[in-house]
Amino acid sequence: MSPEKHVIEIQTGTKKIKVGDGSFTVIAGPCSIESYQQFFSTAKVVAEQGASLLRGGVWKLRTSSKTFQGLGGEAFDIVRKVTHEMNMGITIEVTDPRQIEELHPMVSMFQVGSRNMHNYALLKELAKQDKPVLLKRGFAALVSEWLSAAEYINQTGAPKVILCERGIRTFETSTRNTLDLNSAIYAKKNTPYPVIVDPSHGVGISQLVPDLALAATALGIDGLIMEVHPNPKEALSDGMQALTFENYDHLMTKVDKVLTALDRSIQRL
Ligand code: PEP
Ligand code: MN
Repeated sequence: MSPEKHVIEIQTGTKKIKVGDGSFTVIAGPCSIESYQQFFSTAKVVAEQGASLLRGGVWKLRTSSKTFQGLGGEAFDIVRKVTHEMNMGITIEVTDPRQIEELHPMVSMFQVGSRNMHNYALLKELAKQDKPVLLKRGFAALVSEWLSAAEYINQTGAPKVILCERGIRTFETSTRNTLDLNSAIYAKKNTPYPVIVDPSHGVGISQLVPDLALAATALGIDGLIMEVHPNPKEALSDGMQALTFENYDHLMTKVDKVLTALDRSIQRL
């Protein structure tokens, strides 16, 4: 199988980046947007070291209803201010089809979370709009189911799906998930979609994130999405897997070196 490869253009601030054209894209930011200061300081650090798109959760689908659910609409002003000040775009997870309209002007790319990969009502609504969609793999989804979900989004208009491998549930419990690099490279080689890897959710332990990020980089995929926080111990979600600014910096220097060895480079703004 040698499918025609999709190249997805993403507007980030006043610039455009491409994913799937051989370049390497880094998306980074906190799991959740918590405050202006937290988001702005993180955005500055990740942008200086190679990120061309920000990430940040607004509505969080947490396993327990008692934990932080995200700032919701209160995050919008922070998102607008920081993306404007940084001249950068953001990907935000959309958790409900009713959020698409209000998120549309704010995001460069919609994110569909692992828990929503099978939410066909959401996928069908995303098919009707024009912005790219980062489709995370369901944590118990087969590759074939992941690709079927992508087809729902891609059924109208120009190609707009980027696949994201973010770890699956296996019998192993020593790490949060099992980052399935097999499936990431399988999808890259056998489907038209660009593939991005999320080592943060994939392993769930910040100390191990850099190693898996480097392994994923060496695979030949299209980029990484990673969680970074100014003070992971105080993070309101996913602090266990967040990189500190310092660890992110160190990692990115190494990502650069791995890419250089492979005649590739990080796409910078
Ligand atoms: C996230 O990106 O913060 C997130 C919730 O990811 P996932 O849907 O992969 O769990
Ligand atoms: Mn997270």
